Amino acid sequence: MAVKITDTCINCGACIDECPVEAIVDEEENPTGEEIYYVYPDKCVECVGHYDCPACAEACPTEGCIVWDECKEGQTCADYRGEPGTPVMDAC
Ligand code: SF4
Ligand code: SF4
Repeated sequence: MAVKITDTCINCGACIDECPVEAIVDEEENPTGEEIYYVYPDKCVECVGHYDCPACAEACPTEGCIVWDECKEGQTCADYRGEPGTPVMDAC
């Protein structure tokens, strides 16, 4: 499924253009209303087939900001992914 941007996001914008499938929107387009960037879980493919690690997490300057979310049936999930809620970069 997806990675998730948490509330430590500083809205720097470093991640958004790195996503190969345009799954990320900024705080103004966040459908939850939170003032942070957002990953659409139905679009995110965890960069499988594009990069060895999630490009958004590699670009993010805020340590631990981007975490794994649940891997749901029918969605593309990385085989090296960590537990939901753990930082993506800990697995890369
Ligand atoms: S993990 Fe990859 S596909 Fe998912 S939001 Fe981040 S850059 Fe986009
Ligand atoms: S790179 Fe990290 S801190 Fe910057 S907007 Fe994206 S998630 Fe937020």
